Amino acid sequence: ASEKQVKTMRILLAFPRGFCAGVNMAIETVETALQWFGTPLYVFHEIVHNQHVVQTFSNRGVIFVNDIDEVPPGSVLVFSAHGVSPEVREKARQRQLRTIDATCPLVTKVHREVRRFADQGYTIFLIGHAGHDEVIGTLGEAPHAIRLIQSVAEAETVEVPDPDKVAYTTQTTLSILDAAQIVARLRERFPKLVGPAKDDICYATQNRQEAVLAIAPQCDVFLVVGSQNSSNSRRLAEIAASTGIPAYLVDGPQEIDLAWFAGKETVGLTAGASAPEHLVQECIRLLQEKFGATVEEVFLREEHVHFPLPAELRLVPSH
Ligand code: SF4
Repeated sequence: ASEKQVKTMRILLAFPRGFCAGVNMAIETVETALQWFGTPLYVFHEIVHNQHVVQTFSNRGVIFVNDIDEVPPGSVLVFSAHGVSPEVREKARQRQLRTIDATCPLVTKVHREVRRFADQGYTIFLIGHAGHDEVIGTLGEAPHAIRLIQSVAEAETVEVPDPDKVAYTTQTTLSILDAAQIVARLRERFPKLVGPAKDDICYATQNRQEAVLAIAPQCDVFLVVGSQNSSNSRRLAEIAASTGIPAYLVDGPQEIDLAWFAGKETVGLTAGASAPEHLVQECIRLLQEKFGATVEEVFLREEHVHFPLPAELRLVPSH
């Protein structure tokens, strides 16, 4: 294939990419809990939506569950980065589980907003994707008061008891482009709509999407490293594709089809907030070997966000 290459392939590597502060904290939480409590260690939902991360922890004796009833009473249970509903917390308490909360503080912030608006009698539009762990958790804060909005079409038709008393929040990993359109439509229909200053899309989602938008116009094809069930990773691939080039989401080099790159000069490359950097480097190595690719990192902006471990892991362990 390299003989068919007209020029040397160039990889434009997005910065920032990959792990965000919430994912770093969640992974460190499981690491620390393993050190403190050993195995079996239970985690409610995938700790972060990445196949590789989940498989590596599973191999070390971490048990991922989707139902609190699967956890033996008295066990240690970690709540994933995506957050949980009050009902799940209550079930864990009733089962006398020792819980450690690795919810990203930026998700907790959305839960707080929802509770505050619900307490004040607002109907809340939650802009997000049905069935995603984060959305399930947020909906659980005030199920009676929330309307899930997934598209502009749903924003067109949603009905509420009092159109003057409406608020909105968003899932943290939405497309900045889609969310802006949906909020604009809601604002037209409900001029008294209140909400966050802009949206609740987190800094990491925003930065990774902006980095893709900055690079994509120079690229012939885009590669995103991340898992299929990772919302923010999917959005990165969609955003790249929205600029009119093919974009592929892969868990790692083993999923790459070399035909995607034949004859392509410039490849955009990034990784979702839950995708480990070594998988990015393995993809780069493959493209270097097969196409003689060179790498140029394209810098958008620095990130200086860091979250401490959950309070439950900042105390001295009791034996
Ligand atoms: Fe937190 Fe954003 Fe990372 Fe989700 S993507 S864990 S909200 S920092």
